[in-house]
Amino acid sequence: MLLLASAGLRAQTGGLVRAVHGRAAYAYTAHVVSFGVRAPATSGHARTIRYILRELRADHAGIETVPYIAHTPGGTFHEEDIVAKFPGAGKGQGILAVCGHFDTKIEKKFRFVGANDGGSSTGMLLELAHALAAHRLRKPVWLLFLDGEEAVVHWQGKDNDYGSRHLAHLWVRQGVAPRIRALILVDMIGDKDLDILRETNSTGWLNSFIQSAAGKLGYSRYFFQTSSAVEDDHIPFLHAGIPAVDLIDFTYGPNNRQSPGPYWHTAQDTMNKLSPHSFRVVGRVVAKALEMLAAQ
Ligand SMILES: [Zn+2]
Repeated sequence: MLLLASAGLRAQTGGLVRAVHGRAAYAYTAHVVSFGVRAPATSGHARTIRYILRELRADHAGIETVPYIAHTPGGTFHEEDIVAKFPGAGKGQGILAVCGHFDTKIEKKFRFVGANDGGSSTGMLLELAHALAAHRLRKPVWLLFLDGEEAVVHWQGKDNDYGSRHLAHLWVRQGVAPRIRALILVDMIGDKDLDILRETNSTGWLNSFIQSAAGKLGYSRYFFQTSSAVEDDHIPFLHAGIPAVDLIDFTYGPNNRQSPGPYWHTAQDTMNKLSPHSFRVVGRVVAKALEMLAAQ
């Protein structure tokens, strides 16, 4: 409360949107990618967690760490989700959540640094945290930095989404799940050739909300030119009864011709394939959607 007053926080419409900067999100991403491989049980993974926590403390977020043990076909890993909580400025009911994964895929044949896949979601969430530190919405906003999204051996059955599955189950047991009004997942959102697909497992009205937010900002051309179903971190939350939408560009590479794109899960997933403008577009659309949801 003291902080709220001293920082002169504002809750007016548009404040959060303008506070999201593509260059800053890109810079956060570059910093995380500089840690190299960030798969579970690597030093880059530990450094990423320390860095996220340091930035969130600087943004005065309420921080909840949720450690868990992932039993995978490739061994047992100590993993950790991080929840950053920003209180609402008004009496708005329900919590708004934005999430993304920070782990990178375990890859033995080459050095996989996941600039877009694992990096961009982390950088985007850190920039949203920075923006939310200065611009409260009427409803609380929680940012979920999810661990263990990637498969350890093969993406099938339960060898994926370890962090989101753990958190969604926890929220059901704790009675938190019904309090989450909407959850927006960002994944692989930094591609220079931005093309966010309409993900068809996602909650219909939330997809419409995103489309409307993109339209209001003049960004319609980057959204929903194609539709397809993608299994991602939003699925466990959907199973928990939480309205959820996955914003993902799965045609990662030039010209958006292939899905998955040519850079996906390759050594080519590096910072030079990303652009600050794409971070700006997605970040501002997410911020706009949050403002619209908070006003409901
Ligand atoms: Zn991946």
